[in-house]
Amino acid sequence: MLAILIFFFSHWFLSLFFHSFFLHRFASHKMYTTSKNWEKVFYVTTWLVQGSSFLVPRAYGVMHRMHHVYSDTEKDPHSPHFFKDVYHMMQHTIIIFRGFLTGKNLPDAQFTKEYLPVWDKLDRFGHHILTRLSFGAAYTAFYIYFAPNAWWFLLLPIHFMMGPIQGAVVNWCGHKYGYSNFDNGDHSKNSSPWGILLMGELFQNNHHYAKDDANFAKKWFEFDLTYFVMRGLNAVKIIQLIPVASQK
Ligand SMILES: [Zn+2]
Ligand SMILES: [Zn+2]
Repeated sequence: MLAILIFFFSHWFLSLFFHSFFLHRFASHKMYTTSKNWEKVFYVTTWLVQGSSFLVPRAYGVMHRMHHVYSDTEKDPHSPHFFKDVYHMMQHTIIIFRGFLTGKNLPDAQFTKEYLPVWDKLDRFGHHILTRLSFGAAYTAFYIYFAPNAWWFLLLPIHFMMGPIQGAVVNWCGHKYGYSNFDNGDHSKNSSPWGILLMGELFQNNHHYAKDDANFAKKWFEFDLTYFVMRGLNAVKIIQLIPVASQK
């Protein structure tokens, strides 16, 4: 049982960290700079920890930039206020995501103007159905070997869909439940104390207020775990945080 719990929580938090640190704060918002080599390390690690549900960074970045510009309007790719449940919201998001990747539905030029990390070979390999299925098979094998009984297999769908599930929790809850510090003209909310379990991502109200600020916590009782780790990486010079004042 311990092996399963360790596996589940490691997968949850590692996947979430790279989702927040690389896909959100780098690919979408460029809150820090880093060397090309470190960028590659973060890219590969994001793919490895997301595995079967790898979110291709350029598609994620574009979609997330749309989310900021169109927050909680009809053009927002995933506002909870235009769908009857999380499932329909996720489905809609997946259709847009696939449209970008296949080139059938290209994004507006304004969303690709800023830097987007692209690694064609890895994107194609990671997005390939056989690669995704192999990760799924590996998670299942781990459960077959370590799960004390069949009930634990109920956790497997979360492993299969880790990236989109974490995205959906943030997009749904972060624009629906909680309190606001700022009036952003949308429905973005801060859902403390759950924000802590989501590594800062649930401080959507703060983040929409200052989208280029790497620190999503704004009040003394708010804590952004991802930013805390980023400050450590900044201190050892792996990344260079961009001060908000110097941004456009
Ligand atoms: Zn948001
Ligand atoms: Zn954002």
